[in-house]
Amino acid sequence: MSNFDRDPILLTPGPLTTSLATKSAMLRDWGSWDSRFNAVTARVRERLTAIVNAEATHVCVPMQGSGTFSVEAAVNTIVPRDGHVLVLINGAYGRRMARLTEMMGRRLSTFETADDVPTTAADVARALDADASITHVGLIHCETSTGILNPLPEIAAAVATRGKSLIVDAMSSFGAIAIDAREVAFDALVAASGKCIEGPPGMGFVFVRRSVLERCAGNSTSLALDLYDQWAYMEKTTQWRYTPPTHVVVALDAALIQFEAQGGQPARLARYTANCETLVTGMGELGFRPFLDSHIQAPIIVTFHAPADSKYAFKEFYERVRDKGFILYPGKLTQLETFRVGCIGAIGPDEMRHAVNAVYDTLREMGIRQAAPAAVAAAIKAA
Ligand SMILES: *Cc1c(COP(=O)(O)O)cnc(C)c1O
Repeated sequence: MSNFDRDPILLTPGPLTTSLATKSAMLRDWGSWDSRFNAVTARVRERLTAIVNAEATHVCVPMQGSGTFSVEAAVNTIVPRDGHVLVLINGAYGRRMARLTEMMGRRLSTFETADDVPTTAADVARALDADASITHVGLIHCETSTGILNPLPEIAAAVATRGKSLIVDAMSSFGAIAIDAREVAFDALVAASGKCIEGPPGMGFVFVRRSVLERCAGNSTSLALDLYDQWAYMEKTTQWRYTPPTHVVVALDAALIQFEAQGGQPARLARYTANCETLVTGMGELGFRPFLDSHIQAPIIVTFHAPADSKYAFKEFYERVRDKGFILYPGKLTQLETFRVGCIGAIGPDEMRHAVNAVYDTLREMGIRQAAPAAVAAAIKAA
């Protein structure tokens, strides 16, 4: 075991590895009533809104809690109680949005494709044309359970031309993949502090179309997760409605300053793309195969097939790689044995190369000679 004195590199989709400047920002205490803290909140909301070019159309409403709290708040605030939501599913986060929609008492329909098949605009058009009672569509932009990217601009156009309202979970894409509110129509888009902006976890935020939010009073069935109330209170007082995650807010502010200084979304996408390519190439040399085709793979998180070797067990593999300084992520597929490796956080291709080396050493320690998945191993044997 090495690295006693430093944190492991988190190859996970949040929490993720943050920079020293971001961590250092958390070493101070702030009063939630104090005007200096409220100025930070205002600045963070402005900076976030600028990333999706939504200043003219949307407001950024922050919400305490992990990302799911903000997805739940968005659905519960935006969808009227007699609304009907079509949730597009190709993974666990889509299923989660469907579940919370139903739990909030809204009428739910779902459209589901396999984990490795993106939803298309044609799918959405067909579903909407088949049921005129649908009022809202819920989409996961990057489905983090595999890393698949769904075509947001095309789906948004199909929803908008039919006069329906779109709610986007852009949790793991916001900040890395371009989203332009002037070109892509959405009524709500949800993300969080601890993903591609590289802040600590602890708060989410929702960009809500102002003209829509103004009509959302009384929709929410939850007191704490009411985005309308959070927004109205913040507009009136400049303060958060209930205790804000002060340290998270100031660290997110620091992370946003670094985000801009590093070149914003295009630079972040370029770094994550380099991370992803370094990872997939290096793991490929060890025999690992990604679950997704490269053309539908977002450079956010990669799902790999587990080795076919009988000596492989995820827990031991994980612990040995962790002891070398890297935290991997378990797979989230029910049918296939997989594991995931995140490409996001304050890390670059060097860290990815070191992670691949740690995996190589781990395979040797465990006596695993066959890193390819069963199907590939069988094909090699047959050849
Ligand atoms: C991270 C994430 C969420 C939120 O998950 P939490 O565990 O609540 O932070 C929601 N949707 C997607 C696509 C995500 O990647």
